[in-house]
Amino acid sequence: MFKKTAGWLLLSVLILSACSNQSTAGNTGATQTPATPAATEQNTGATAAPQTGNDTTASSGTTSAGSTDTKSGENSSTTAEDSKAEAPASYTYHMNKNYDIVPNKESDKTPKKVVLLTFDDGPKEAKMINSMIDTLDKHNARAIFYVNGSRVKRHPELLKLIHDRGGVIGNHTYDHIVLKNESPAKVKQQIEDTQKIIKETINVTPRFLRPPNGAGNDAVHEVAAKNNLMYMNWSVGSLDWVNQDDPQAVITNVMDQLHSGSTILMHELPWTVEALDQLLTKLEAKGYTFVDPDTIEPEMR
Ligand SMILES: [Zn+2]
Repeated sequence: MFKKTAGWLLLSVLILSACSNQSTAGNTGATQTPATPAATEQNTGATAAPQTGNDTTASSGTTSAGSTDTKSGENSSTTAEDSKAEAPASYTYHMNKNYDIVPNKESDKTPKKVVLLTFDDGPKEAKMINSMIDTLDKHNARAIFYVNGSRVKRHPELLKLIHDRGGVIGNHTYDHIVLKNESPAKVKQQIEDTQKIIKETINVTPRFLRPPNGAGNDAVHEVAAKNNLMYMNWSVGSLDWVNQDDPQAVITNVMDQLHSGSTILMHELPWTVEALDQLLTKLEAKGYTFVDPDTIEPEMR
């Protein structure tokens, strides 16, 4: 009897320590080194990323640092439960360290020739959002919409619109600042205030984070891990933030870099909205299908 109880205790301790080791290892090791293509894009983006006047006028810190701190423990446990509740029974894809999407099983019938569509810097305008999602629907595609908390604050109805129409919401910080240059406290505030306002608006806790310009630091990785957020840059940049007002350039840039599992970075911009139907048609013509973001497992590996 004693032996059996002791055995169970030992087993429980082993399982617990294995779990904590795994999450620590996954969180720290996964994304320290950005993939080369993403790093290239991020450098270009740093100077040319679209910054509308609205971004800078948005007030940060709607939640005081103090109250965010005291709640962080609660938030992470709630987040974990929510992610489980919203996640499918089994994940069919994962993200690798080059920010490409890979099927979990080689032998499986899960298509390898896939792309993940992502749109940053919204929500801005109902007209653009509706047009994008009309096009996604036409092609049986879903996408991640990486939103800024300050924009959600100004237009909660636009976040609801994306969510109601099936868009998957990701965290793109509160004020679209480059986190790499910020203090750990500021990083925490930027990410967690955004988690909070999204949760309050649509009752969903995002599980994907994209730092503006793809530029993070250790604090960003730590805060992401604490909030069960996968740190996601991209592996194909549409350069829609460089080639302004040029829908054809968006398509050409994507097609030139296209490969199996591409995570494609686009933005909520008029010329991207205009290019989208033709781009998705071309991708399908080359045999690509679109990954449902909800089928991507939480840990990068
Ligand atoms: Zn952005």
